[in-house]
Amino acid sequence: MSTTILSPRNIRTPLAVSDLPLVIYPGPIHDHWTQAARTKGFDLIARVRDRLHVALRCQTCGGIHTARHSVVMSAQPLCPHCIEARWRQTALTANLTWLGRDQDHRHYGRYRLACGHEVRRQFAFIERIAAGAVAVRCAACLVQREEAEAARFGWSRLGRDPQGNASYRLYRHTCGHEQRIAVANVRWGQCDCAGCGQSWTAKPSYIYLLDIRHSGTGRHVLKIGYSARPVKRHKHQLGLPKDALVEVLRVVAMPTGHDACTREKAAHADLRLTHPESIVPHPDYADLMNVVSEVYRPESLPFLQETLDRIEADIVDAARIRTPDLISPLSRTAGLPDPEIMPDDPDSRPSTVSPRRFSARTHARRKPQPRTISRDRSPILRRHPGRPG
Ligand SMILES: [Zn+2]
Ligand SMILES: [Zn+2]
Ligand SMILES: [Zn+2]
Repeated sequence: MSTTILSPRNIRTPLAVSDLPLVIYPGPIHDHWTQAARTKGFDLIARVRDRLHVALRCQTCGGIHTARHSVVMSAQPLCPHCIEARWRQTALTANLTWLGRDQDHRHYGRYRLACGHEVRRQFAFIERIAAGAVAVRCAACLVQREEAEAARFGWSRLGRDPQGNASYRLYRHTCGHEQRIAVANVRWGQCDCAGCGQSWTAKPSYIYLLDIRHSGTGRHVLKIGYSARPVKRHKHQLGLPKDALVEVLRVVAMPTGHDACTREKAAHADLRLTHPESIVPHPDYADLMNVVSEVYRPESLPFLQETLDRIEADIVDAARIRTPDLISPLSRTAGLPDPEIMPDDPDSRPSTVSPRRFSARTHARRKPQPRTISRDRSPILRRHPGRPG
């Protein structure tokens, strides 16, 4: 096994062996060693350490490493500096920052992800990322996202499912009751507490920001709406084509349906006034979905997010005044170990498949609801009872 004795940042600096932390071993340098080294891409510059080792300078990068002379004679010495340079380049291609080898495992390196978190991953896995075959996932970010998703419906994420189901986590409700719930259900707010009996969906409501794309017609619009129930169940009731993609960009939990309705209407009125150009005329989407207003152009996303920021800030302030413990801090220290996720998950999918993006097709396969239940039609459009409109 060769030893790295010179970091690659110095590789262009000519070095004498006497500059290196190597002990010169007295003894002749045989010509056939020098010849063999040269044909294999190295200059043999000294005998070092003991009677078995020599120092080799790479003809490609200039880096120096030690090897047994038997390796020089009977095998191909490998330059560790060139290998590391290749890992660094692969990391760059994979949009990662190379941080060095993992000292505990020779097949692993340390990398910084685009989000800033540090991970260790197999070199082979990084090559697959660089080739676009898989996407790297950040477990720390995933935990943060799940914590935030739970917090908006009054739950704290405690950790992995004690029963070992990868789709579930353990959560604690604001009442103190702990319960396992599927992550997807928490994401959509389908998480009634078995402890206090409170159905979160019974009274409160949600304002949603949806990104709707239809590749068939190339259309892309944004929609704001509110619903007393998770939008997941009702998405098909927007009347979208089966191949339309709907992504929930944001969900703002509202204390009551009345709040949701009032805020949503006020937001639309405000946007109509301040950004009339952002509103898509009804004929432009009439054949795409069965709603009649509150559809925006994709360029209006920043205003829509700002509007929701304001609504959310007001709601959080109000909640904090009512129950100071309700709002827990969501931030988490970067660089945590990954407790929940296997580092090199072979099932990792490219990032183009967002967990929140789904096709309406999945819903089309579901058992259709009886036609007689008409009160659930277009709940996103449903007006608050007692309000016109
Ligand atoms: Zn080299
Ligand atoms: Zn991260
Ligand atoms: Zn509870």
